[in-house]
Amino acid sequence: MPSLTFLGATGTVTGSRYLLEAHGRKILIDAGLFQGRKELRERNWAPFQADASSLDAVVLTHAHIDHSGFLPRLVKEGFNGITYATPPTGRLLPPMLTDAAHLQEEEARYANKVGSSKHTPALPLFTVQDAQHALNTVRTHPFDQPCVLHPGLEFTYRRQGHILGAAAIEFRIKVAGGEHITVYFSGDVGRYAVPILMPPTPYRGSTYLVTESTYGNRFHDGSDPAEVLGDVIMETCQRGGVLLIPAFAIDRTQEVLYYLSELAREDALAPIPIFLDSPMAREATAIYRQCVREHDVEMREMLREKIDPLAPPNLQIIGSVQESQKLNSMRGPAIIISASGMATGGRILHHLRHRVSKESTIVLFTGYQAEGTRGRRLLDGEQEIKIFGEMLPVRAQIRTVSSLSAHADADELIIWASAAETAPKRVFVTHGEPEASQALAERLHRRFGWECHLPVLEETVQL
Ligand SMILES: [Zn+2]
Repeated sequence: MPSLTFLGATGTVTGSRYLLEAHGRKILIDAGLFQGRKELRERNWAPFQADASSLDAVVLTHAHIDHSGFLPRLVKEGFNGITYATPPTGRLLPPMLTDAAHLQEEEARYANKVGSSKHTPALPLFTVQDAQHALNTVRTHPFDQPCVLHPGLEFTYRRQGHILGAAAIEFRIKVAGGEHITVYFSGDVGRYAVPILMPPTPYRGSTYLVTESTYGNRFHDGSDPAEVLGDVIMETCQRGGVLLIPAFAIDRTQEVLYYLSELAREDALAPIPIFLDSPMAREATAIYRQCVREHDVEMREMLREKIDPLAPPNLQIIGSVQESQKLNSMRGPAIIISASGMATGGRILHHLRHRVSKESTIVLFTGYQAEGTRGRRLLDGEQEIKIFGEMLPVRAQIRTVSSLSAHADADELIIWASAAETAPKRVFVTHGEPEASQALAERLHRRFGWECHLPVLEETVQL
């Protein structure tokens, strides 16, 4: 009998790892890192719960680190099967994993230099070499075509919006009596009315459904992101300060660039310098531009008309660390877009360190801020923030543009699910903080009568 074990993303939004066992094969769906609170992050150091060398394959939904970042550890622990990814995910993974490894190595080096770690010497979770070994296991498989892993065990990728290459995964498993069951993993569900990428594929039904619930209890305000950006930029000009936009290198950055370009085309963008200071975001932007098969109609049309919707005027791309450091002495008004999106690492930390205590600064968050991250603390209105071991007073204006999220909100999740032609026998609600998962489970039950379950960590269910 096939079984499913929840090895992460239970009661939290990170660490997606689901172990599907069928026909004597062990398949891991997503190999994500835990992020956010310290006790969550510490789980990344624990050995993989199910013997990495016994896994036959890993099937990734998308390139986000909380879905793919555990892969280097898994390979180090002996995984030697194939890692499947959609073609765009296959292009995003090399910069993603290498960048994550660089950050890990840098943090360990820094901790050793200032002696801020309890562990001596502090070690990176994985190195650039570990990331390379993980990348060597990746094989891409296109959307909407079955991939046979073993007779009676296959999966199909379905486009899911969210970020470039993101997929839901539909498994089809042969069971006793020649019947089949299907297990549908939502991955992260994207949004409908957003630019650049094609919208999520509606969920048509399955025997079992494993769905994310990041925004299960929340709604994006209906604001127009371009308008919010335009207003904040105007205010930045009045204050004469710098607008810091911590943006996830993948997708948020491209959307911010898209909306800035749109404002410029409408003559509604103040002519101030825009700096993109994230090597990873620069690379991701190039990949976004190249993956034309994934573009929505408007994006295709603009590119055909030789309009680059990801290059607003006055955009300057920052390369070296020296160039990045030069921005510290710059006076406003200006815009700095930099990663990471939750201010957990990356160059944005240096910019925050220099500017978060200045009254003229505005910090504009562009997406979900997980519990325990600096982004969440700043949004929660904390008066002081710790960066590189130093407590800094927060005098900057802290804002968010919630309508710029890459995740479907509570209503959009229901819209996505409402296309189901058959009711799933059971729904497993994961990838959300407990209240969010609970809220989505209750809504799915009330609306469609579906039986929903919130699995706990390491719980196994028979399918
Ligand atoms: Zn994601």
